[in-house]
Amino acid sequence: KFAILNGEIIERSQAKVDVEDRGYQFGDGVYEVIRVYNGKMFTAKEHLYRFVRSADSIGITLPYKDEQLLELLETLIVKNNLQTGIIYMQITRGVAPRNHAFPTGKVIPALVAYTKEINRPVEGLKTGVTTILTEDIRWLRCDIKSLNLLGNLLAKQKASEKGCFEAIQLRGNDVTEGSSSNIFIVKNGVVITHESNHFILKGITKDVILQVCSDNGLPVEERTFCLAELEQADEVFLSSTTAEVMPIVEIEGNKVNGGAVGSITRKLQELFEQEIETQCGS
Ligand code: PLP
Repeated sequence: KFAILNGEIIERSQAKVDVEDRGYQFGDGVYEVIRVYNGKMFTAKEHLYRFVRSADSIGITLPYKDEQLLELLETLIVKNNLQTGIIYMQITRGVAPRNHAFPTGKVIPALVAYTKEINRPVEGLKTGVTTILTEDIRWLRCDIKSLNLLGNLLAKQKASEKGCFEAIQLRGNDVTEGSSSNIFIVKNGVVITHESNHFILKGITKDVILQVCSDNGLPVEERTFCLAELEQADEVFLSSTTAEVMPIVEIEGNKVNGGAVGSITRKLQELFEQEIETQCGS
């Protein structure tokens, strides 16, 4: 298998970074995960745009043009013969003697990308997944797809220890997002999800869902919602690049919609599937 390291495609086993890479020492970098279906990237432009935005918001300028990077990623998919899976890509501020402040000399940002085969989560998509609730202890720039994921990791670990798929995070009484997903509720036919601000990551999957809702006349409210609304929702689901439109059928042991996947969630799964086919073929 092959990987991208600083603009070159090399053997995965040869892709090594220095111990003083600032990503390794400080989490000083940002990342993206791009879905690949049928050997084609899904919503590639949106991911690249977010990558550039995330990097820019911490003062890292990508040393490549969008088209260059896109071409490199396409080559990587072909070389690794990837059909269904993901591309993981990250950029760090680079290698410099350890010091919290940014290095002053000319330091070249370090870009790494590799692929991984991952099947679609068909079982979960069919029957839904279980979740727990946890306090959102993260920082106030969750809109940046930062390598610093400790808050997210601790939340996911809690879910994992309870045998659950995801942890739904609460900031005070408000639902923000999952540890690695956005959260949606459906009430009286209205699809409700947290507005995209600094409390959550603006999910690419979330944006696709909002777009198909708008295209198909499904009413949407992008706003903060509280724990009581989550508990009283008709349907609940989460979204992410790898989990797609994933029904949530249980929260802290309490069944949602009697434990069955709701009709609007099913409809959105269908519409999402159509998006995949349009972009990547079936
Ligand atoms: N929120 C967080 C914290 C995430 O880590 C992710 C993705 O992994 C998402 C939301 C969903 O974003 P996307 O749909 O772009 O994968």
